[in-house]
Formats: sequence, structure tokens, C-alpha cells
Amino acid sequence: MRAEVIEKMKESRASMARLLAIHEENALKLAIEYERRRMHLDRELISKSELREAELALEKTLSQMEQLKRWIIQDDIAITEATMRDELLRLPALAVGGFSETGALVRFNGGGLWSLAEAPKIEKFFAQMFGRALPVTAFGQTTTHDRLRFDHRNAMDVAVHPDSSEGRSLLSYLRQTGIPFIAFKGAMPGASTGAHIHIGQPSARN
Ligand SMILES: [Zn+2]
Repeated sequence: MRAEVIEKMKESRASMARLLAIHEENALKLAIEYERRRMHLDRELISKSELREAELALEKTLSQMEQLKRWIIQDDIAITEATMRDELLRLPALAVGGFSETGALVRFNGGGLWSLAEAPKIEKFFAQMFGRALPVTAFGQTTTHDRLRFDHRNAMDVAVHPDSSEGRSLLSYLRQTGIPFIAFKGAMPGASTGAHIHIGQPSARN
């Protein structure tokens, strides 16, 4: 059942990647067309609205590409949690405050206060430290977790590689504040696809 859902997600992820490649090609053509019209406008061969038309077409494709990229990252993260779930369940439980690093997983069973209501504190830390918003890909339960029958109600996923400098600072902040996490370095050795930090307790077995 779960394997079937994972397979379907991998298929949809692959078709999004194909669509993204088509958009990328298209964006290149639209950028060339925009540039061509801009030069024509300079020589007063076309009107401003013709230039604006080309600009809008390019903007639309670029924003569709951004959306696709976000969806692909979300899928990669969910697929990673789903495929590494068994490995995670086989690991010995950690005592409160316990920390462990095994292969592609880093776990911390913080005993501090944690619920999604604490998320703004982490967002603030990250934004002050790195000058950009915390890249949250899943806040609590999502339809993807429903499909996987995962209880993700009290957890959030952040698309930051645990080994990056941002990742390392975030993990040490979470340890200092006693917030539990599981950091995934990617489902496949050597590949960082799906790498992320899951903040909160592991999804309960159901
Ligand atoms: Zn998660």
C-alpha cells in the first residue's frame, strides 16, 4: 500500500521534472524573443505593448518553473521520509535529550517545549542569521502525508541540507533549545536529493 503510493509519487515527480525541462527550453526562447523586441522598440519598430506582451510571457513561464521546482522539492522530501521510515523505526529509541548520528540520519530527542506554535521562533532565528526566510516545505499535515498515512500533524520540514552551514547552525540552535528533530542527508548515498530537516518527533506508526 505505502510502496504503491511512493511509486505513484515518484512517477508524478518524474513527469514534473519533464515538464520543468520543457519550460526551461521555452523560457530560453521567450528570453531571446524579449531581447529581440527590446531592440526593435529601441529602433521604434514595435510598440511598447508588444514588448510588454513578450515580458509577460517570460514572467509567466518563470513563475511556473518556480512552482514546479517547489513541488519537486516537496515530493523529494516526502519520498525521502517515506522510504527511510523503516530504517528509522529500526533504530533504537533515544532517551530524552539523546542525540545520534548514523549514516544518512541525525536524530535528536529534545526534551524542550515543541509544537508548531514554536515555529515562529525558529523562523526568526533563521531569518536573522541568514537574511532569508526559513524554507519550510511542509507545515504540519499535508495531503501528501494523508496519502502516505503519515501522522505529520506536529512536525515541519525545512529544505536545508543538514551538512550545509545553514543546516549546521539550525541543528545546533535546535539542540540548544531542546527542540527534537530528524535530519535526513538524502535517501541515496552521495545524492542530496530529498535532504532536509524534519522538526518535531518522528511520525508515529499508524
Ligand atoms: Zn517531516
